[in-house]
Amino acid sequence: MTERKAQLAGNLAKVEERITAACVAAGRKREEVTLIVVTKTYPAGDVRILSELGVRNVAENRDQDAAPKAAACSDLPLSWHFVGQLQTNKVRSVVGYADVVQSVDRARLVTVLSKEAVRVEREVGCLIQVALDAQESGRGERGGVGVGGIEELADLIAGAPGLRLDGLMTVAPLTGAYAGRQQAAFERLMDLSTAMRRTHPAANMVSAGMSADLEQAVAAGATHVRVGTAVLGVRPGLG
Ligand SMILES: *Cc1c(COP(=O)(O)O)cnc(C)c1O
Repeated sequence: MTERKAQLAGNLAKVEERITAACVAAGRKREEVTLIVVTKTYPAGDVRILSELGVRNVAENRDQDAAPKAAACSDLPLSWHFVGQLQTNKVRSVVGYADVVQSVDRARLVTVLSKEAVRVEREVGCLIQVALDAQESGRGERGGVGVGGIEELADLIAGAPGLRLDGLMTVAPLTGAYAGRQQAAFERLMDLSTAMRRTHPAANMVSAGMSADLEQAVAAGATHVRVGTAVLGVRPGLG
C-alpha cells in the first residue's frame, strides 16, 4: 500500500467511525447515511485510491477541475455529485459526468439542465440547495434558494424532462439566525424536506453536514454527508 493510500484509508476509517457513532447516538441504522467524499482540489489519483478503498460517491464544486478528473476516472464505479454554484454555460459539461447536481437554486438552471439532459439522453438527479441565511424569497450569497422558493423549484424540476427531483441540500450558514447552530439548521432542512415530500414523496435525499458538523447532520436526520478535509486533508488555498 502506498503512503497516500494508507493515509486515506486511515482517514476514511476515522470518518466511518464518526458516522457510525453518530448513527448509534441518534438511534439510526448506519445504512441510512451515505458518505460522499468531496474531492475538490485533489487529483484524480486520489479519487482512484478512494474508489479502491470502497468509496462510491464523490463530489466536486468546480467544473474546470471536475470535468478532467471525471474523465480520468470514467472506468471507476463512482457516482459524481456536483455541489458548487453552477453557471448555465457550464451545464453542458457538468451533465456529461454528474449523476446528481446538488446545487439547483433557480428556475433558469432547471430549464438549461433539462434541455441538456434530454439532448444527451441522461437522467440527472437534482437536489434543491436551500440557503437558510437568505431572505424567504431571496438567494444565498454562496448559492441556494430562500425557503420560500423551494416549492416552485420542486414542481419545476419534477415536471422537467430528463431531471429527477431527489431532495434538498444545504450548507450550514455562517451568518443569520442559524450561524453557529448547525444542528438547528439541519433540523430546519429536515422539516422542509418533510413538507416537500407531501407532494414529492420520492424526493427523500437530505444532504447536509461536512467534516466539521457531520454529527449534527446525522442527528438531524441527513441521508447524505459531504466530507472533504476529514478524508483528504486540509485544502491548500481556496476551495
Ligand atoms: C467543500 C465542500 C464540502 C466539504 O467540506 P469539508 O469541510 O472539507 O468537509 C461539502 N459541501 C460543499 C458544498 C463543499 O463545497
